[in-house]
Amino acid sequence: MNLWRQLRWRIVAANMVVVIVGVALVLVMAHLITRTVTPAGVQQGLAQLAAAGSAAEAAVAQDELLFAFRQSILTSVSVAAGGAVIAGILSSLFLSRQILRPLRQLADSSQRIAHGHYAERLTVPPSDELALVANNFNQMAEALEQVEQQRVTLIGNVSHELRTPLTGLKGYLEGLMDGVFPSDEETFAHMYQEVRRLGRLVDDLQALSKVEAGQISLHPQTFDLIPLLARVVAQIRPQAEAQSLRMTLDAPPLPLTVLADPDRTAQILLNLLSNAIRYTPDGGSITIRASRQPHHTQITVEDTGIGIPAAALPYLFERFYRVDPSRARSSGGSGIGLTIARHLAWAMGGELSAASPGPNQGSVFTFTLPNAVEQSL
Ligand code: ADP
Repeated sequence: MNLWRQLRWRIVAANMVVVIVGVALVLVMAHLITRTVTPAGVQQGLAQLAAAGSAAEAAVAQDELLFAFRQSILTSVSVAAGGAVIAGILSSLFLSRQILRPLRQLADSSQRIAHGHYAERLTVPPSDELALVANNFNQMAEALEQVEQQRVTLIGNVSHELRTPLTGLKGYLEGLMDGVFPSDEETFAHMYQEVRRLGRLVDDLQALSKVEAGQISLHPQTFDLIPLLARVVAQIRPQAEAQSLRMTLDAPPLPLTVLADPDRTAQILLNLLSNAIRYTPDGGSITIRASRQPHHTQITVEDTGIGIPAAALPYLFERFYRVDPSRARSSGGSGIGLTIARHLAWAMGGELSAASPGPNQGSVFTFTLPNAVEQSL
């Protein structure tokens, strides 16, 4: 451990310099006075004392000698004090430069960040304590920069998403006004589709902002997952059958008791199952498996669909991310569903992750929930 890197030891060292300079000067002066250059007053006093013929003369000589001696001590102490003051001023200037320069930089940089310059960073000073402050400040600045970037991206994404249905709607309205489209049921149905898309998007955005802000209301309770799975599968089965998809629920005969919010659990499952239906070509199959693991209950939704390229997997749960934007937009997906689902899973103490062997080789989504704590009798 390098002690010199710590501000505490630099302060101790600066104070020690002052003490050492003072003491050294006293010693040097004492040496000079007693050994090398005996002050003139003392020499004179000594000579007078030696030449004194009477007791009265000796007493006078002694007084003068004492006076000269006190003078020389005073001089040496004054020189030492002067030296210590100079050393004190120099070491204080050195120390305050070491402390004040980074502090001034910190004040300037925080001011610049307050004015929106989020790329601002501090140069890390050599002393450990100030380096810690600078590093923490830089981390905070980086986090602020990321939040700002996300905000800008979010606004861009939202306006982009809103533009698609609005453009569609505008096209139909212009067509109606110009008489290009007949004002019949089909045109209105198309317009209604666009309005529904817009409504769905706004609902999704509202749900997203709530989950991301941690403002979702959860009502966790202990319940058996199997009947809920059966209910969700039954609810979505007609959609799967319309696409000739085989849907299988593979669950153990025992109850799988979890501690979670049943409505939110159903919402996540519905999202995973509707994605599986959307991204699996006709004739494929979807398998839902549920099992008890040591620390949680696991549900997997596996499909034989279009799969997910390995490069896309890390981004799948990011807002507005779609592997194939054109395809997903035409089928109504906004790329928010999985983001909301994962936040809901996290809020319930669970996890949601995706895996796929590659394009056209199907996908597996794994959703976990905390096991209900067994009541000991
Ligand atoms: P979307 O509303 O677009 O489906 P999601 O957030 O639910 O939004 O999904 C994000 C993207 O993840 C989808 O656009 C799609 O590219 C991919 N994806 C989700 N589920 C599957 C799946 N079962 N098979 C293949 N790709 C999927």
